[in-house]
Amino acid sequence: MSNVTVCARFRPLSSKENRDDGVCVRAIDSETFVFQDDKDDEFTFNLDRVFYQDSAQASIYDFLALPIVTDAVNAINGTIITYGQTGAGKTYSMEGPGIQDCDEHKKGLLPRVVDGMFDQITSSKDFASYTVKLSMVEIYMEKVRDLLDLSKGNIQIKENKTQGILLSGVTEVPVSDSTEALQLLCTGLANRAVGETQMNMSSSRSHCAYLFTIQQDSVTDKRVKTGKLILVDLAGSEKADKTGAEGKVLDEAKTINKSLSALGNVINALTSGSSSKVNHIPYRDSKLTRILQDALGGNSRMALLCCCSPSNSNASETLSTLRFGMRAK
Ligand code: ADP
Ligand code: MG
Repeated sequence: MSNVTVCARFRPLSSKENRDDGVCVRAIDSETFVFQDDKDDEFTFNLDRVFYQDSAQASIYDFLALPIVTDAVNAINGTIITYGQTGAGKTYSMEGPGIQDCDEHKKGLLPRVVDGMFDQITSSKDFASYTVKLSMVEIYMEKVRDLLDLSKGNIQIKENKTQGILLSGVTEVPVSDSTEALQLLCTGLANRAVGETQMNMSSSRSHCAYLFTIQQDSVTDKRVKTGKLILVDLAGSEKADKTGAEGKVLDEAKTINKSLSALGNVINALTSGSSSKVNHIPYRDSKLTRILQDALGGNSRMALLCCCSPSNSNASETLSTLRFGMRAK
């Protein structure tokens, strides 16, 4: 279905990855590559776009985010998700080296989305006035925490006929330009780090969602139009170490696994749904899918960036990431 774009991104080998282990990916073209696992089995993958080790942050924004930003400004909801094992490049793709990093070349999706959104809103002649609101939440152990107000540690998800899915009581801050938005995102991320220490957990074990609501008074339509745009930096998809994991670590792993499978099931139900029968979409199986409900279903658009290590030493996790991506197509 054309509403879902699935891409893979291979980051460069890290300094910890041994060059002698070899790489698991052989490029064919911009959509196709051969994956070779540690037993030398080969699998050919075909996705909407493959970003290899040397790909630029800008090319990822242009291909998978820009069309969604344009739609969101025109009141079509959208979601952009980064998926993959811890260390695969999800946060680098989403934020870049830092949200307010001035290096134009390294800027991640989030600052580019913010710039693109305000550029499009302010250059449009159709908007009499507009409001952009920003919320930021973290989902940890199936609890939704407000990153713009850490005292709100258990936000409830509600649904309302006119506004759709709502995070009850969540902090929503109006932002008038991209500088303000980026400043707020930095505050939220700093709070996230504080929360991590307080709860003695790692940010790689929680999902982080950035929620933008764009509301405009249209000149031509004489009505208020609302678009929701949600970016999600998911928790690491790696399987728990079968021997070592116990207690809290195991609970975290099970909870993450459950919500990522729920996400996979929802996307799969959306992309494989035949038009003749209305199939059941299991949004309620996790907080993550519930929050994303009206930015995934209906008339909305989604882009999934499957982040991968190129090293053979991570081949089995990379294969499972790529299979998650294939199921979404
Ligand atoms: P994740 O969020 O998936 O756990 P990170 O985004 O934190 O992974 O990436 C792990 C490390 O690899 C970081 O040090 C990051 O700077 C680096 N990295 C990831 N992707 C790239 C890339 N495309 N180019 C350069 N460095 C990258
Ligand atoms: Mg990360």
